[in-house]
Amino acid sequence: MDHFHRIDGRLHAEQVPLADIGRAAGTPCYVYSRATLERHWRAFDAAFGNHPHRICYAVKANGNLAVLNVLARLGSGFDIVSGGELRRVLAAGGAADKTIFSGVGKQDWEIREALAAGIACFNIESEDELHRISAAAAKARKVAAVSVRLNPDVDANTHPYISTGLRENKFGLAESRAFAVYKRARADANLRISGVACHIGSQLTDLAPYRDALARTLEFARRLEAAGIGIDHLDFGGGLGVRYHAETPPTPAEYVGMILRMLAAHERRLPVTIEPGRAIAANAGVLLTRVIALKRGAGDTDFCIVDAGMNDLIRPALYQARQDIVEVAPPASADGTDAAAATAVREYDVVGPVCESADCLGTARRLSVRESDLLAVRTAGAYGAVMASNYNARRRPAEVMVDGDAFYVVCKRETLGALYRGESMLPADDDAADESDAADDVEVNRA
Ligand SMILES: *Cc1c(COP(=O)(O)O)cnc(C)c1O
Repeated sequence: MDHFHRIDGRLHAEQVPLADIGRAAGTPCYVYSRATLERHWRAFDAAFGNHPHRICYAVKANGNLAVLNVLARLGSGFDIVSGGELRRVLAAGGAADKTIFSGVGKQDWEIREALAAGIACFNIESEDELHRISAAAAKARKVAAVSVRLNPDVDANTHPYISTGLRENKFGLAESRAFAVYKRARADANLRISGVACHIGSQLTDLAPYRDALARTLEFARRLEAAGIGIDHLDFGGGLGVRYHAETPPTPAEYVGMILRMLAAHERRLPVTIEPGRAIAANAGVLLTRVIALKRGAGDTDFCIVDAGMNDLIRPALYQARQDIVEVAPPASADGTDAAAATAVREYDVVGPVCESADCLGTARRLSVRESDLLAVRTAGAYGAVMASNYNARRRPAEVMVDGDAFYVVCKRETLGALYRGESMLPADDDAADESDAADDVEVNRA
């Protein structure tokens, strides 16, 4: 459920017409709905009832400060995968002691910053990482809480790029190696064993792989306990899928219900952490874009050229993802006398201005559009703005958050000058021989 809906045929976010936002903030522009973010977070929270739990929103899905702050106000924890994400969480008012650090390549400076901030737990993915966290903790005179991320070797049945729980994936540790890491951690005074972690992939639309992964994780936790290694929580990761087009993913209640039922078979009421990203943010956002031109194609399909491209939203190009694209004005099928209603429905490939044939937001879409009309790419709140780039020297899109009948620009569009701030040219050829005359803003390094 989301709060993007039509009022008199016109697409709104909560009470705000998207056309107003397009006019005020320009396009392309991401539009998020606060009520939708909150509704999704609460759906997970409520499903746990009184079972001890923590919802650590996966920052990588959408790390905009306003998004993080809205969730922090609900009491959310956070799952980070970099020092940059830690900075964002702290800047947005998120609690360090509800923050978990995941990721397969944590660098020493990131580990140091996380220790200094006092995060809740490191989810460890290799033995080498265990040693580096231990050394950093010793230096900081702290004890680092750690979980080991198990790789349960289950097929998440999702796109191979977002599948993470297969043996051949780079993520986590197989059971035998994970067990050895726990034994080392137990013997290390700089570390405190906190939990067992698992995350098998993203955009899962079926509970079956989750069941397999959880069964293995619980079995592994039992083995740890039998060896006298106690844990204080189970971190089951994120990955619950959303409806982009025709998918029918489990609801948060079904997903959490499955976790609780499987835990009930376990003798302890183990506290549970989950790390949903997409399921909270995806349907809380759309990408608003304006039609630049309509162009006849050679075959049956015409081109609808819009001002958003693969640099703004890469999912269709990278994962062959299908996201719905809808008219912001009343579409032709709606009643009314609006001029748009008279525009014939045609089949279009909706393409961006980027110089790549992969720059296609959607193929074979039936739309009634004219030049300069607005379109909304649905389900764009997760893995949208965060993956935007400046390819083709394009400015990344602005971001807007709607709250009831108000809207706020929560990320300004970049300026063209910002695109090359930090770049510099070599000294003029005449100056190069004479260092003293080299332009002072160019850093010179010599072998
Ligand atoms: C990406 C990721 C998540 C979030 O995945 P979603 O599919 O967005 O829910 C959670 N945990 C870890 C470790 C991740 O890498």
